[in-house]
Amino acid sequence: MIPYGRQDITPADIDAVVAVLESDFLTQGPQVPLFEQTVADYTGAAHAVATNSATSALHLACRALGVGPGDIVWTTPITFVASANCARYCGAAVDFVDIDPETFNLSATELEAKLKRAEITGGMPKVVVAVHLCGQPCDLRAIHALSKRYGFAVIEDASHAIGARYEGRPVGDGRYSDITVFSFHPVKIVTSAEGGMAVTQNEQLAEAMRLLRSHGVTRDEARMSRPGEGGWYYEQIDLGYNYRMTELQAALGISQMQRLNDYLEQRHAVAHRYDKGLSTLALCTPARAENSYSALHLYVIRIPDGAVRRRTVFDGLRAADIGVNVHYIPVHLQPYYRDLGFREGDFPHAENYYAQAISLPMFPTLTHTDQNRVIDTLHTLLA
Ligand SMILES: *Cc1c(COP(=O)(O)O)cnc(C)c1O
Repeated sequence: MIPYGRQDITPADIDAVVAVLESDFLTQGPQVPLFEQTVADYTGAAHAVATNSATSALHLACRALGVGPGDIVWTTPITFVASANCARYCGAAVDFVDIDPETFNLSATELEAKLKRAEITGGMPKVVVAVHLCGQPCDLRAIHALSKRYGFAVIEDASHAIGARYEGRPVGDGRYSDITVFSFHPVKIVTSAEGGMAVTQNEQLAEAMRLLRSHGVTRDEARMSRPGEGGWYYEQIDLGYNYRMTELQAALGISQMQRLNDYLEQRHAVAHRYDKGLSTLALCTPARAENSYSALHLYVIRIPDGAVRRRTVFDGLRAADIGVNVHYIPVHLQPYYRDLGFREGDFPHAENYYAQAISLPMFPTLTHTDQNRVIDTLHTLLA
């Protein structure tokens, strides 16, 4: 089976992890701060907080921004459930903004219309989670302008998008948002096995996330309620979690980051071959925006005739041992969110996209032979 995504592990990665195993620290040593510095340097962020997953980082980001009961967080329906769940962990409500039918990212036009309605009827968001679907940056300039006008915070869920650029600058530089979150799950651009990171230009937000990452415990006297009682003394000043990344994960992440730019070039080469190989078929290949450089986490084609035909093509590819997938089932149609009141028809562009989408194999080490097999199979299925 050719998978839709696959990690690339080199001897250098293995050596880096083994070196940690032979060192004094398996957790809370020097590798995690080094990984944080590596990502901060790459993105231009002032602060980086590594976590055991992007899901944890999204939760910390919401907590740091003060999301709680009575608040509402908006996101796109076309994302992994974690982009919405982070608000629910904080006791907040979730609502969705329909997607742009061209880019499949949260639509800034829909966002503005929904904000105008909310201004009158209530339900303004405290935070908007903007997801860079498939690695293609959202319309961040417009979303940021709306955040200033209407007074909400922006979290970028850049789980697909480390290495992507927007208006020539790296995603994560914080120019248009408060916090940006990356995922290092093996299927993403670079991996630490499991792992995530939140980056920000705001020191207070970074401090809040660091505190909550490790139980809400501090050893900083300035933050304690009374003078320390000795070298052992710490205080728990908030209700935090154990969301720490291990030294093994960080060492793998640092080693992988050295190849990030190569990976992106390889992903673009794969996309280019698909664009050409599929250009004569009755399907839509993904558009790439002019003002951005996609990290190309996913290559999603659309089969325009609707769900029935998509299913046939999907099953045909799977039967040919090609591990295609669908990203994503609209979050508002998940039973958990239906129970909160969402229905079919609430976000028609998202539902229409879902009915047509198939994610083709997309990873840096995809061979020409395997990719040709994907292209040839599509030609046969759509003939
Ligand atoms: C993968 C992913 C996440 C969650 O990442 P983990 O590191 O697995 O927790 C969140 N949002 C999006 C859009 C993702 O693709």
